[in-house]
Amino acid sequence: MNASAAGSTGSSGQIVVAGAGYAGLHVALRLTAKLHGHPVMELTLVDQHDYHQALTELPRVAGGTRAADAVRLPLQDILATRVRFVQTEINGFDLAGRRLLTGAGPIGWTRLVLTLGSRPNDFAIPGLAQRALSLYSADDAERVWAAVSKALTAAAAAAAPGRQRRLATVVVGGGGATGVELAGELAEILPEVASGHGLATDRPAVQLVEAGPTILAGSSPQLIDKATRILSDLGVQVRTNATIAAATEDGFLLKDGQLVEGGVFVWAGGLKAPDLVADSELPTGYNGRVKVDRYLRVLDHPEIYVAGDLASVTDPRTGHVLPPLAQAALEEGETVARNLDAELKGRPLEAFTFHDKGFVVSVGTRRGVADIAGITTGGRLTHLLKDAIEWEYRQSVRHLRGWDPVAR
Ligand SMILES: Cc1cc2nc3c(=O)[nH]c(=O)nc-3n(C[C@H](O)[C@H](O)[C@H](O)COP(=O)(O)OP(=O)(O)OC[C@H]3O[C@@H](n4cnc5c(N)ncnc54)[C@H](O)[C@@H]3O)c2cc1C
Repeated sequence: MNASAAGSTGSSGQIVVAGAGYAGLHVALRLTAKLHGHPVMELTLVDQHDYHQALTELPRVAGGTRAADAVRLPLQDILATRVRFVQTEINGFDLAGRRLLTGAGPIGWTRLVLTLGSRPNDFAIPGLAQRALSLYSADDAERVWAAVSKALTAAAAAAAPGRQRRLATVVVGGGGATGVELAGELAEILPEVASGHGLATDRPAVQLVEAGPTILAGSSPQLIDKATRILSDLGVQVRTNATIAAATEDGFLLKDGQLVEGGVFVWAGGLKAPDLVADSELPTGYNGRVKVDRYLRVLDHPEIYVAGDLASVTDPRTGHVLPPLAQAALEEGETVARNLDAELKGRPLEAFTFHDKGFVVSVGTRRGVADIAGITTGGRLTHLLKDAIEWEYRQSVRHLRGWDPVAR
């Protein structure tokens, strides 16, 4: 169903996209072509990095099977000259003055698109932020792999088998898709890496600690069962109903008093909106995500659109807020680009509808599990499917750039 635009961007002005992740980059690429007929409408993309990060590939970087630079895609290779790119950190918002506050000074907008993604959420668990690594950027993934390599080196230098075992154990907190992918990747790769360090191949271990009754909560029981079997086959020790109460020097302390020891700790147990959004006057809901109407405009701020992890979008079919997924970010980015174009052309706006293409998780370097159209699959072909999705995404980014009629 459609609605009229609340206001018009007019024939001139500035569209500013804040964040060059999955949603923001998609908006910028799609709008570039659409704005061809509006030479006086400027498009600015702002990000703290001069590269786009293929976050779905981070578990491979953290597992040492992919270089961090391979998941940092330089924006200058992706964006056409038509887009003005500003590399700077966004510090806040002047909503009344319609300005983005950044390290490079204020940037005024006629329309703002907020696509700032998520941050790891430590739920104020004592010690977690200090003791555990996170996995939400290429830098994070590099840190995880460096810590794993360092721990294995330390384990090889230790004399007592017990100490070797403890140092060579990676503990992952959070049994969602990120935790499962990381645990699987490491479990598959660590025996070989350990042997390179002169350690016995059975010395390393991976533990996956999940507070809820199951890993991959929200997925079908069949998918959960298949993923659990593969993890078990890889030697991952999965602990469910295990709530982390604190992270100490000795390890993750569970609510029931047990201590989970290890040499490397990674937290993949939750996400929240960036703090600068919480500090703004934007209306926020669960986990600080920004509340939007069905056209993806901020409630009471029709001049600001939000897409991706930052948007709190309820799926009318389920009544639940959509999960933070690249798939949803891309679809929302598409609707935002269309609606901005509609505003420019005086056409009615389009309500967002999520078309669920399914859920695919890699478990280890060779196998995966998926729920697609009500059918659960698992095994090597499913891992290839995940590879294909990631390859297709990279191709689509190039292809979208190719749509720009005035591309370099
Ligand atoms: C390890 C991992 C694996 C994942 N695997 C999958 C998967 O298999 N399938 C799937 O669908 N989803 C997956 N996801 C989720 C998916 O990556 C996110 O849902 C998606 O990235 C959200 O897109 P976004 O555009 O909202 O945010 P992002 O892609 O995170 O982009 C946000 C952008 O904003 C920029 N930014 C943020 N704050 C500032 C600031 N203050 N100043 C300047 N710039 C700023 C960042 O640099 C970044 O470029 C995974 C996520 C992780 C971490």
